Amino acid sequence: MVVRSPHPDHPAQEGGHPHRALIEVSLPEPGSRPPLRPSRRLASRGDPRNRCRWHVRGGLDGLCRGTRAPRAGRPPRGLQESRQPALPTPPHGGLLMAAPTDETKHLSEADVRELWEANASAWGRGVSRRWDFFRHEFHDPAFLPLLGQVEGTRFLDLACGEGVLSRWAFSQGATVTGVDISAQLIAQASRSASNTSARFHTSSISHMPQYLRDRGHDVVTRDFGALQATWRTVCRLLVADDFDLIAVFNDFDAIDGIERFLHYCRELQPQARLLTFGRASRLRPQLFTGLLFDAIAWSGDYEDAVGSYVDHLVDGLPTRGVMLRTGPETFEKGAPGAFLPAPRWSLPDVREIPYDAYERLYSDDLDKFCGIPDRRELVVPLARGCPVGCAFCDVPKQQGSADRRLSVQRTLDYIESSLSHRPFDYVSFYAPTFTLRRRWVEEFCEATRDRLPALRWKCVTTLGHLNEGLLRTMAEAGCVRVSVGLETTHLPTAREHLPGAKAATLGRFEEVSEWCLRADIELNCFVMLGMLGEPLAHARTALDQALEAGHRVRPTLYTDYQALPVEGPVNALATANRQLLQPGSPLGLSHRRELYQLLHRTPGDRRTRVSERILSHPGLLSHCNPHVRQLEDFSKNDARDWLNLKSNELQHPKLRAIWERFDTWEGRTRQLSRYPVFDDTLGAVAAGLGCRPEQVCLAAGSDGALRALAHTLGGTGRCILPAHCYAGTERAVVAAGLRIRRLPPGEGDRASLAQRLEQALREEGPCMVFLENPNGQDGELLELPVAAELAASCARAGALLIVDEAYGDFAPIDHTPLVADLPNLIVLRTLSKSHGAAGLRLAFLFASPPLVGELRRCRMLNEVSQAALDFARFAMLYRDDFAELATDVRSWRARVHQELSAWPGWAPRPSAANFILVGAPSTATPRALLRSLEHHKVRMRVVPERPGHPLSVRLTIPSPEDLPRALLALAGGR
Ligand code: SF4
Repeated sequence: MVVRSPHPDHPAQEGGHPHRALIEVSLPEPGSRPPLRPSRRLASRGDPRNRCRWHVRGGLDGLCRGTRAPRAGRPPRGLQESRQPALPTPPHGGLLMAAPTDETKHLSEADVRELWEANASAWGRGVSRRWDFFRHEFHDPAFLPLLGQVEGTRFLDLACGEGVLSRWAFSQGATVTGVDISAQLIAQASRSASNTSARFHTSSISHMPQYLRDRGHDVVTRDFGALQATWRTVCRLLVADDFDLIAVFNDFDAIDGIERFLHYCRELQPQARLLTFGRASRLRPQLFTGLLFDAIAWSGDYEDAVGSYVDHLVDGLPTRGVMLRTGPETFEKGAPGAFLPAPRWSLPDVREIPYDAYERLYSDDLDKFCGIPDRRELVVPLARGCPVGCAFCDVPKQQGSADRRLSVQRTLDYIESSLSHRPFDYVSFYAPTFTLRRRWVEEFCEATRDRLPALRWKCVTTLGHLNEGLLRTMAEAGCVRVSVGLETTHLPTAREHLPGAKAATLGRFEEVSEWCLRADIELNCFVMLGMLGEPLAHARTALDQALEAGHRVRPTLYTDYQALPVEGPVNALATANRQLLQPGSPLGLSHRRELYQLLHRTPGDRRTRVSERILSHPGLLSHCNPHVRQLEDFSKNDARDWLNLKSNELQHPKLRAIWERFDTWEGRTRQLSRYPVFDDTLGAVAAGLGCRPEQVCLAAGSDGALRALAHTLGGTGRCILPAHCYAGTERAVVAAGLRIRRLPPGEGDRASLAQRLEQALREEGPCMVFLENPNGQDGELLELPVAAELAASCARAGALLIVDEAYGDFAPIDHTPLVADLPNLIVLRTLSKSHGAAGLRLAFLFASPPLVGELRRCRMLNEVSQAALDFARFAMLYRDDFAELATDVRSWRARVHQELSAWPGWAPRPSAANFILVGAPSTATPRALLRSLEHHKVRMRVVPERPGHPLSVRLTIPSPEDLPRALLALAGGR
């Protein structure tokens, strides 16, 4: 068999799609090849996820990468939001041969099928009328001669379109089979070749292994271990048919039964050639020479080695990566195998993987399998190879030291296509070091949020290839677990056994642990036991440390692959399965006992909690708003006995008396059985704040106001936010489907802010702009004239400026007078901070009457409760009392600022709000601060260090009674 493929970017013959692959399979003359078995069936025993696959060069990529065609109606996902101009419809009825564009990166297999179905009739017309001048005049004369002698061959035309190339091949004397993803094109091809023996099939090239089975290369796979097969089951398979080749997978855990299995094969399939491939034969191929194998794969990727052996059997071609039996006891090693580039990998067909059987293996998490109990896992073999070079790891030897990985598009295509076959609950990425390529991960996360927002996934990497930003990005894209090699916390052992890069990042565990907890990602810590020189107590410490921090542990045994036997029985290789110490270990009996207890019954161990984060049958979520699914989960704790200085709620002892007065206030509406009444409240608020009722609107707190603003006035779909702002703003804007543009962070000076805003407005044009004044992060204040200038800039760009003055009473500053002159300005004032009414959810919006009219039109009709409306009138009535509270807070703020300025190393910033952002001394760490806060039961926002800004704490101004507790909690974090 000869498999020939043009370069993947090489266009095919007329009638085929652009950039299609062409594969010709030709059988050599009888007698010119080694004896061929009659049935040409192949069997493979082993884990199908690792098994050899028929490899079709250029196939899937050739199909998916370069095809784009117009279609009627809604464009596929991924093209909808594209700003690319629509391709013009050509005059000849819709036929279009478009060059690949960036947009095609998002095409799934289903998209491609849909596009070609929509374009099939135009395509067929175009081909039959010879509209493609380029193909006839230039391409075909150059390309057809490259095919050489076609007569007498079996000609496989992949992505055959309406079949013009297949018909040509038939006319040349070939036995022709055409395959295409489009059923309509296949119907055309069958019609136009009805007077020939050419056969046509609708199929995607990605299903080629199945197709090859149907065409004569029949492949059967079984994971007998996972299936808990009996020997009778094995026999039934082996007598059911004749196989030409039986390929046996040899992992360390799948060695014990090999000899017996071979005996069954020889007895029941005497004609079959026997080959073995796997981790064990790559490390110690010579140990397999004493068995009954005809060939032993020893080098390169599995599929390359096994595929080359099949080529050898069929065509007599030289092998790669395979030792061939040349005599009763002799083997010839031949050329080493190849590590295939990722575009040439074939991905497993999930329909033939016994996932039910694997789920049984994962059902008890303490068995420490990689799968998550009660959830169905899709394994995506994403990458191979690792450059880190741990001596106890065979990945570099098995897969090479260069990272090879699938493209983001192919990865997502594979997941989507697998999900279309079976309902998987989450994805497990097989990549030795998933975050080795940060850019790839970021690109993947962005694409996943867009295409598969409900996806949950896990991966493996090293501590040194993680940082907080990356983990946050991964969490936002659905990552629920990251496995890392913690290995040991004993530095001398680490220095001796770990590569430099890994030993150097040991101290990083605490940081990564914190980051994962914050990002809500489970950390799965591999801890290596049995490394010579490591005190057992240290191994226990590493496990305890990970468990105490709330993570999952997976203890494992140190394996020295160099020390594996070079001769003797093949079963000796089973000692590398990391369950028992290797023979010859110098550890004494009591040490061993203790070590095995630690390994197999880890004290304090517990089952994973990550199952709860993964919804069974995530397809249920497919109807959710994808914008909302991008948001992180959110919850507020009700810690009543804690001093909450985190949310900037007003802290004042007089609040209790005010609320008691409100409870008994005679102006309250007592009839809560009726819908709320707005108009008198609007009038009262307008009168109290000195504006006209038609300039005022009410909302259910700042969240309700932001949601209403985004829904009502965010028609352009774009919005500009400061580099840092209230998280609720972002949530409201995202949930409303707006695209966010962040202003780059600046150094607070007004000129810089104006410039940054101008620049963003130039690029975004009409949009919504949000601004907090005073700023909710550091309390910085922009004076009214500056705010007015910014509003004027926005007006010039046709943008709306929304100023959130939640902290305005503490400045004090009032933007409402500007509303009269600036019709694009909207002022938002919430009563959460200034009036201590966060639980009531009430906010005022001030704007020009036309804007208020729009807001009221879709308002929040009954979103604001009658109790909140009552409080609005109450607040207007007792304005002076509330103003007094704000005055107190301002004076307490000055005192706290003065106090903290005197603390060595602490740097309070000037603030116009009811909080102060305090830079922590260099001796403080986030962990120490959080511990101290927890000890004193005080909540504060700890702001991690970032370029140009130290680790900081945002301290809501406490009342004088609470001040000592707050300061003690802060001081403990030094
Ligand atoms: S980092 Fe992981 S995959 Fe890479 S060599 Fe070390 S243990 Fe193996």
